[in-house]
Parts: sequence; structure tokens; C-alpha cells
Amino acid sequence: MTDTTDEQGHEGALAVPESAVWLKGQLLEIASALSPDRRPVVVREWTDSVRLRDPAPVGHRFLFLVCVSGDDRPSSPGFDDVLNAFTVAGWNAHQRSLSHPGESWATARREDFEVKVYEGNGPGILTFTGWTPVVYTERQLGQPPFTLSTASGVLCDDCHGWGVCLLCEGRAYSGGSGGYGRCWCVANNAGPGKCVECAGRGFLTPKAVSWKRKQYGLPDADGGDAFPQPPAEDGHDSNTSAFTDVSQRSCACGEFRCFWRNILSEADDHLLSRFAGTCQGCAAQRAYAFTLPLP
Ligand SMILES: [Zn+2]
Ligand SMILES: [Zn+2]
Ligand SMILES: [Zn+2]
Repeated sequence: MTDTTDEQGHEGALAVPESAVWLKGQLLEIASALSPDRRPVVVREWTDSVRLRDPAPVGHRFLFLVCVSGDDRPSSPGFDDVLNAFTVAGWNAHQRSLSHPGESWATARREDFEVKVYEGNGPGILTFTGWTPVVYTERQLGQPPFTLSTASGVLCDDCHGWGVCLLCEGRAYSGGSGGYGRCWCVANNAGPGKCVECAGRGFLTPKAVSWKRKQYGLPDADGGDAFPQPPAEDGHDSNTSAFTDVSQRSCACGEFRCFWRNILSEADDHLLSRFAGTCQGCAAQRAYAFTLPLP
């Protein structure tokens, strides 16, 4: 069941750790409890590789994107019910502040596992994005603050989400035994051991993001809060099906990782489902729209 094809430049089957099997089971169980008349859909499963200075990964995180039910949802669970379902299953769920009217999101944690719960406007898609802690192959390192899929932005090119200087791995003073005494990062503004590029954040600053957009020939402005209105496509009969399609598509930069928002609205004799998100690779604004039949 591993989807190692998602890893650019990484070949070969990864052993699926018990943690990944457990998490997938939990997500499906919670989703089934919420919507007993519909089968939850695992829309995508993938891995985030974790690396230090060398391009070869030192570990992986396993992720699952589960869609509870996409369209009409006649017996639609309220968002409180969703959070309850996680709580009952032993998770610590917290609703996050509403940044977009009609949309809801929350985080649920259990030990080193985390789930991002999202419900679109309309009601649009209801999804769980769950991830395991990073599983290391040899050196057992601590958990990085972010990996590609979990950063609320674009990962820093220099530290790959660690936030620390990878020359010294955050140990800016070696006491001389390591042969260098002080790492050059000691002199940086963010402080000893911190990544110079992102000042220890792990992901790019807004300024660095606009620089990156320029590198990719993208417009600097992101259109503010207006939800994009791309031309609508046909060919799907449910929002789940449309979302499954969207989640398989890649950005022009090659990256597919993107946290999708969704608005479902009624228009004349059909439904209009709109998806939008920011690419986790190049910060491009991505958007798709689909016409769906009325329920
Ligand atoms: Zn950095
Ligand atoms: Zn350093
Ligand atoms: Zn991109």
C-alpha cells in the first residue's frame, strides 16, 4: 500500500510501519462512525521524506487523506460531531479560528500523530489529513517541526523544515572536539544553531515566498481573500469524485502537495464545486472548478 512513487528521486518500496497502518485504520474508523451510510474514501496516501544536508532521506512520514463524504451529505454530521468523534476515539481535538466564513478546520492530536480536519463551505468536502511521526531508518533524530505536507507555507530550502543550521545540526558550539569550534551560524541574526535562511522558522518568510514566486515566473499578488473562479469542468457526479481528481493533479512545478479548500454552491440547474489552495512547492495559487449534478 505504500505510494513511494510520490517521492521524487526515491525509488524502492518503503516498509510500512505499524504507526501508518494504525493511523489509516483510525481515520477510516472515525469516518465510518460519522457517516455510516457511506464508505469513507482514502483519497490519497503518500510519504514526506525527511533529510538533513545530504539529498538522501534519513526518514519518512506517512500521510493519509480521507474524504468522509463529499456532496449533498443528507445526514451531514455537524463539525462538533466530527470533533466529538475524534475525542471519543481518544484524540485531543481543537477547533481552529475561522479565517474563512462557512469553512471549518480543526487539529486533532494523539501522541505524535496529528490530523487536520477540514470542512468546506456549502457544505463542501469533509476531509481528514493525518500524519504519523517521522520514522527514521538509522539515526534516531527528534521530530522536525515540519515536513513538506505539514508546513503552513513553503518549506525552507536550506533546512528543509528543521529550523536549525544543518552544517552543525543546531549545535553551533562544539567545544573544539568536532574540529571546528564554532559553526559560522553563530554569527547569524537568528542566533547560534538557527537556520540563516528562515531564521529558525522552518518555512519561508513572506518575502522569501514572493522571491520564489518570481523565480517560477508567478505573479506576486495572491488575489487576497477572493476565492478563485477558474472555468468549470464536467465529468464528475459527486464532490468526492471531483476532490479525488484534484488531489491527484500536480502543480506546474511538479508538486502535488496542497491543502485544498472547497466551496460548494448551487447554480441554476447544477452544483458548482470550487477548489483552491497554495502549492507547497512553489507557492503558486492553484484552483479548479467542477459542475456537479444536483442531488
Ligand atoms: Zn531554514
Ligand atoms: Zn551551524
Ligand atoms: Zn507548485
